[in-house]
Amino acid sequence: MNDTPYGFDTLQIHAGARPDPATGARQTPIYQSTAYVFRDADHAAALFNLQEVGYIYSRLTNPTVSVLQERIATLEGGAGAVCCSSGHAAQIMALFPLMQPGSNVVVSTRLYGGSITQFGQTIKRFGWSATFVDFDDVDAIHAAADENTKAIFCESISNPGGYLTDIPAVAAVAEALGVPLIVDNTLATPYLCRPIEMGATLVVHSTTKYLTGNGTVTGGAVVDSGNFDWSASDKFPSLSQPEPAYHGLKFHETFGALAYTFHGIAVGLRDLGMTMNPQAAHYTLMGIETLSLRMERHVQNAEKIAAWLENDPRVEFVTYAGLPSSPYYDRKQALYAKGAGALFTFAVKGGYEACVKLVDSVEIFSHVANLGDTRSLIIHSASTTHRQLTPKQQEASGASPNVVRLSIGTEDADDLIRDLDQALAAATA
Ligand SMILES: *Cc1c(COP(=O)(O)O)cnc(C)c1O
Repeated sequence: MNDTPYGFDTLQIHAGARPDPATGARQTPIYQSTAYVFRDADHAAALFNLQEVGYIYSRLTNPTVSVLQERIATLEGGAGAVCCSSGHAAQIMALFPLMQPGSNVVVSTRLYGGSITQFGQTIKRFGWSATFVDFDDVDAIHAAADENTKAIFCESISNPGGYLTDIPAVAAVAEALGVPLIVDNTLATPYLCRPIEMGATLVVHSTTKYLTGNGTVTGGAVVDSGNFDWSASDKFPSLSQPEPAYHGLKFHETFGALAYTFHGIAVGLRDLGMTMNPQAAHYTLMGIETLSLRMERHVQNAEKIAAWLENDPRVEFVTYAGLPSSPYYDRKQALYAKGAGALFTFAVKGGYEACVKLVDSVEIFSHVANLGDTRSLIIHSASTTHRQLTPKQQEASGASPNVVRLSIGTEDADDLIRDLDQALAAATA
């Protein structure tokens, strides 16, 4: 073989994995073990001192989970990754090394409903806060930051409207402020968008969605680019200053590009315990093998169905950025050339009542609070996922009462169109 880097389709199957050294097992085994036998007392001491990398206890590291971590880091073009028990766990884990009481993060108004609640309410219990800004206005991001700002957070393709973020422009603001940009790449996946190549420092995932792709397990991941200089300012003492629990070790000085990842495992997972279990890692590894194939079909179907809906007189508007009529279409062509994903909303003439009837009338689409499954899914955000939000927050996040969200699966597009057709007929009768 020569030095040509492997392509995405090869890496999604092979990165991080090799035949099991003990048995030759070709598929990555589920290492269903809590603990690992030390070679001797010196080995144990070296592991606990972080002088040697190895397995101690599965709250920290597990061989099946390690394969998935390397697979995701490779697909995102990062230096390392830490897997977590859910996407929400990954978001807390991503902020944990950066924040102290009094710190804030500037976040987009267009986020997954649960993320708006997590950032808007729950993180206050840690003494952290979030400032919500429209990320199409990059000057507003800059203006919202202050000396306690430790990160900028947005989604690449954002839930539920399928809006696209101009990641290079937002990354430039983060760089000017000297803080990392964290991009939730759940809806795009590294197949459609590679935030690190556009200037993001960190990428988070809900692996529950497209990466697993089959609706079986919850999980999350935090990927670090390895590009950020944590010692350039005094903003990030957890990474640049001595860590008391490891005899004054300085993570950035000692581990360089892997400092953030090692901190995530050695401090984050050790003390917060938001660990992914090996069964979940196995399901997600199975799913990732076909990621590019699924995403291509998801996008093809979404483009076809969005175009059909847009031309239907019962529909007021469709938000899909893959439609030439979308205000995000130019950005899609420039930054998301492989497609705008497969999640979007459309407004039904007849408002709230018609939306509720529509979700009760579909047959192939499942009415569930999930997305990124091979199965097509439908939900009325305003009465479910975005129910806790104020009307203003619902509107800003693209979840107005007259809007239904679709997560287009990989079934036959014509079958999905026939299903929506009959459900729209029932809803607007
Ligand atoms: C689902 C989701 C999350 C949360 O992930 P969980 O695995 O459900 O905890 C975060 N961000 C986005 C964009 C999501 O779709």
